[in-house]
Amino acid sequence: MKTQPNDSPKALRVGITGGIGSGKTTVCKIFETLGVPVYYADDWAKWLLNNDPELKAGVVKIFGEAAYSPEGEYNRAHVAREAFANPEKLNALNALAHPAVERHAQAWHLEAAAKGAPYTLKEAALMIESGSYRHLDFMMVVTAPEPLRISRVMQRDQVPEEQVRLRIARQMPEHEKIKLADAVIINDGNHSLVQQVWTIHQKLWGKSGF
Ligand code: ATP
Repeated sequence: MKTQPNDSPKALRVGITGGIGSGKTTVCKIFETLGVPVYYADDWAKWLLNNDPELKAGVVKIFGEAAYSPEGEYNRAHVAREAFANPEKLNALNALAHPAVERHAQAWHLEAAAKGAPYTLKEAALMIESGSYRHLDFMMVVTAPEPLRISRVMQRDQVPEEQVRLRIARQMPEHEKIKLADAVIINDGNHSLVQQVWTIHQKLWGKSGF
């Protein structure tokens, strides 16, 4: 665990990541019931692509005016098509979007801290790949056996097994993520999630100095 940042004397920045279908969102919902503010990075990234003028201007530079409708709405289909065909454009988009989300997440964290949160939680699928985990004080990885992750996602998204396997293959292997974790939450249906969350919550509460 790193020392606390100077601009936030008490509140810790905690991250939660894990592979597709591992149960990140499910675990975050439990933290939320304990009053912990959660920043859902993927949702905020979508919001920023529609609302952050600097980010929007950068996206237009990479993908052209067609990246937004005349009303200013983000054209995900156009950007996805272009990014799929041009890996360098995808890299440019990531280089633009990840820091924008990071800036926003930091401001959000400070606001939550000012309101008295002992720590905040940031949920992101690509926390390690994007490098944003380096800004955290504590990082958790949610893990579940691959067959279980596959069946859960198949059921949730109504997609075939091959599609889930493809998505998993594109992600960093779970064991690599676990190497960087301060805590691992096992979501295999046998270990109590509530118990694991409660144990970590108490630990973080203690570390925050509240
Ligand atoms: P993604 O990376 O795709 O966003 P995620 O890691 O956030 O996924 P969740 O959406 O929390 O994963 O979980 C995937 C699916 O599995 C959901 O439908 C969720 O309700 C279900 N699920 C997660 N954990 C459990 C559990 N312990 N018992 C039963 N169902 C679960």
